[in-house]
Amino acid sequence: HQMQNVTILGATGTIGLQTLDVISQHPDRFNVFALAANSNVKSMLDLCSTYAPEYAVMLQETAAIELTAELKSIGSKTIVKHGEVALNDISAHDQVDIVMAAIVGAAGLHPAMAAAKAGKRILLANKETLVMAGNLFMQAVIDGGASLLPIDSEHNAIFQVMPQQRTKNLSNATLSSLGVKRVLLTASGGPFRNASLQELKIVTRAQALNHPNWVMGPKITVDSATMMNKGLEVIEAHWLFNASPNQIDVVVHPQSVIHSMVEYIDGSVLAQLGNPDMRTPIAYGLGYPDRLASGVSSLDLLTTARLDFCAPDLIRFPCLRIAYEALNMGGTAPAILNAANEIAVEAFLAEKIGFMDIPNTIEAVLATANIEQVESIEQLVAIDAHARLMARKQISAL
Ligand code: NDP
Ligand code: MG
Repeated sequence: HQMQNVTILGATGTIGLQTLDVISQHPDRFNVFALAANSNVKSMLDLCSTYAPEYAVMLQETAAIELTAELKSIGSKTIVKHGEVALNDISAHDQVDIVMAAIVGAAGLHPAMAAAKAGKRILLANKETLVMAGNLFMQAVIDGGASLLPIDSEHNAIFQVMPQQRTKNLSNATLSSLGVKRVLLTASGGPFRNASLQELKIVTRAQALNHPNWVMGPKITVDSATMMNKGLEVIEAHWLFNASPNQIDVVVHPQSVIHSMVEYIDGSVLAQLGNPDMRTPIAYGLGYPDRLASGVSSLDLLTTARLDFCAPDLIRFPCLRIAYEALNMGGTAPAILNAANEIAVEAFLAEKIGFMDIPNTIEAVLATANIEQVESIEQLVAIDAHARLMARKQISAL
């Protein structure tokens, strides 16, 4: 195999670190070309001394200055850059083969678009890119001749059990023409799966951050607790697989062993199973179509013992309902939903609002928003900024 150069956006995050873990198991196959983060100099310094990338990019200039000084003192040759343009440059760089898009939130959109236009293999963890700009991003992937490998465990599972025609040729075929009836996204149900509506109103930040099955960054962990994560994933599945909203169902499965399923018109249901460890989908994305060792232990079905399923409760978890509504509204509604959610989650993490204020804020912002057709990234950036403003207003009025 030829050596492949990898850029990791969000290298210091949970997905970024797990990507480096898998890469370091295959030193003859992957070279760490560039690493990017927001502001965490300490972690980036560690990563640079371990992986010696050609480039390290910090979004924040002050962090980049600090990192430059630290790297100089250890005699590192890594070139440090900063700012949004630099993030795009390391995503579209001529020497790069693979881009892991694992920045959290809407901030991941521009570099992911840059990688798509430059025809890279994109390992997409940043689901917010598809929620905000699904049609523009999918079109950029096709026009740029890029390949798109979903890293979100559910979508990676679906990708693995989809007909090959779908995964090879993104552009046209509808799911039903391929014999697919629907996709079934599994959801763990999060830490509050069994909490009552009364309890949900008073749950704390610490309780929300205590996910039963997955170790993830704080934003997605709160999204999992509200089930907005599943809502974002419904929208993500819509764009990735050309699935209409009524072809996407959610089933709560507390063990997180079945990562998702595809039902065919003949009644067959294909599922992908495994331990809940993101190194499996990451290794799949890195190696595709080959299979690579990931370091994940064998699934022990006898210890798992049972697989349970139940329907999601849209009364206790209104975020999932609101996300379906935004998808059905179409146009800029999902981008507005995403922006309002980011602001509400930030406020909850800062302990400024209660848990159930998250859906309330998002719903209020969507109710007063003016939904437009999606035309450009610039328009989406403006809409994102406006929705954030409206969400902040809503929160300060609480
Ligand atoms: P983390 O919070 O752990 O990490 C976020 C990473 O993004 C950090 O490296 C952070 O840098 C960087 N970052 C944040 N903002 C910016 C910015 N504006 N510019 C550049 N870099 C930035 O998140 P996760 O790894 O958990 O999640 C990353 C993405 O993957 C999210 O979109 C999430 O939804 C998705 N995902 C994650 C899963 C998981 O298991 N964790 C599963 C499925 C999807 P710094 O350290 O400097 O702040
Ligand atoms: Mg997921």
